[in-house]
Amino acid sequence: MDTKYIFVTGGVVSSLGKGIISSSLACLLKARGFRVTIQKFDPYINIDPGTLNPYEHGECYVTVDGHEADLDLGHYERFTNIQTTRANNITSGRIFQNVINKERHGEYLGKTVQIIPHITDEIKRNVTLLGETGNFDFVITEIGGTVGDIESLPFLEAVRQLKWELGDDACCVHLTYVPYLGAAKELKTKPTQHSVKQLQQLGIQPDILVLRTEKDIPQEMRRKIAQFCNVAPDAVVQSADAPSIYEVPVRMHNQHLDEILLRVCNVSNAPEPDMEAWYKFLNHMVEAKEEVTIGLVGKYVELQDAYKSINEALFQAATYNDRRLNLISIHSEHLHEGNVDEKLAQMDGVIIAPGFGSRGIEGKFVALKWCREHDVPTFGICLGMQCMVIEFARNVLGLKDANSTEMQPSTPHNVIDLMEEQKSVTDMGGTMRLGAYDCVLRPGSRAAMAYGAENVRERHRHRFEFNNNYRAAFEQAGMNCVGENPETHLVEVVEIPEKRWFIGTQYHPEYSSTVLSPNPIFLDFIKAAISFHKEKNSNK
Ligand code: GLN
Repeated sequence: MDTKYIFVTGGVVSSLGKGIISSSLACLLKARGFRVTIQKFDPYINIDPGTLNPYEHGECYVTVDGHEADLDLGHYERFTNIQTTRANNITSGRIFQNVINKERHGEYLGKTVQIIPHITDEIKRNVTLLGETGNFDFVITEIGGTVGDIESLPFLEAVRQLKWELGDDACCVHLTYVPYLGAAKELKTKPTQHSVKQLQQLGIQPDILVLRTEKDIPQEMRRKIAQFCNVAPDAVVQSADAPSIYEVPVRMHNQHLDEILLRVCNVSNAPEPDMEAWYKFLNHMVEAKEEVTIGLVGKYVELQDAYKSINEALFQAATYNDRRLNLISIHSEHLHEGNVDEKLAQMDGVIIAPGFGSRGIEGKFVALKWCREHDVPTFGICLGMQCMVIEFARNVLGLKDANSTEMQPSTPHNVIDLMEEQKSVTDMGGTMRLGAYDCVLRPGSRAAMAYGAENVRERHRHRFEFNNNYRAAFEQAGMNCVGENPETHLVEVVEIPEKRWFIGTQYHPEYSSTVLSPNPIFLDFIKAAISFHKEKNSNK
């Protein structure tokens, strides 16, 4: 079978969940036995989202090959269990950079370099790059932004050309919004009609419409939309708000979205999707009645998407442990000695979030000291692990001024320090220690038991490291360095074995947690939190 290209575009407003719909489609096609990949094309000029702060587009996701990626790639991996790479996330910046580099190398010698055809050709080349490897039956391409944005025009022009060239090897799924006007007590289809018109004006006829809505859209209304938009009547499906994003693939399947897509792409005799493992997960979700309460201490907790992968990894781990996740956000800037008791007393477990810079860092130390002294299951991730080390140095080793040189370059006790190879780095984009690295865990450590393995591989995104000069002092005082990189001997995992569960990882295990393979260290953390909860209650 030729590689099929599915384009997912969005209209009316942003934040409709194109990433979830793309991921759901990929999930269903994979469950039917097809080889699938998803890629995201973002219209902004940044080369990648690595230099953006979380207020812009939420969390920065990291792929195994060390690409700092849009958070939608996290959804892709969580829904499909397929790893993505640098090739799965392209921005306008990268397209322009490639074209400008080619121009400097004389590849267009004598020609005027223009948006059309040079930029659009470079977009097309990138869209088909993964497909041309022969490794995929379906390449799903999500186009970032909303139809009508000036900056996404070259992408849509490339989609138009590809649809024309590929015929029924291409398909466009357009996601729109059908608002409900409370005062009129009516659902309104006009924004959808306008957005499809806009797409048609650009020369793209969508094949399938997915309507985001808060209320059920009656069949009659869907038929009307189909008629106005030149789409087959059954190819208008609704995506109503779901209690969990993980229900969306099933809801799409129940409306035959995957079947319609196969029909549009002329694929016959496809096997039915095998969703057994997925249904099992959903069953755990529905059956879970009791709660596990986890506090997330960070400086971006007010942003819904800033810690997306951590939230999802926790949710998956809680679900597999038959618990409903009660995630409490604790703003690290507002946490101090005076309120820590009240803020943390109810927690079954506490996560200290990753981050950059010193804002909110003192609150993380207060939380860590409290958790260590009250023996609450505690999980520090990246900066969270570094804070664990600093708090221990200050309050157990008695090194009062211990710090990371990120926060205080002149600290006399640089227990967290810049890696040697980072000292000469001046460029900000893509220059951290990024991507998956091996880690060897000490036999018998809590971390090794959690993984059920002594060799693991997890993803990184940081510049600073545990300073190995202090290793012996930490081990002697009871904080063990139980995970290290086998080549560089950089410390990857610390833990206090005498505590219930007190582990910090320099890496980000949340990036590799998916619905079908939840990350073992998150599963173990939640298990510890559940035991602690039971213990607290039995003592009452
Ligand atoms: N700021 C820290 C470093 O660069 C931690 C980074 C993070 O938490 N991702 O090492």
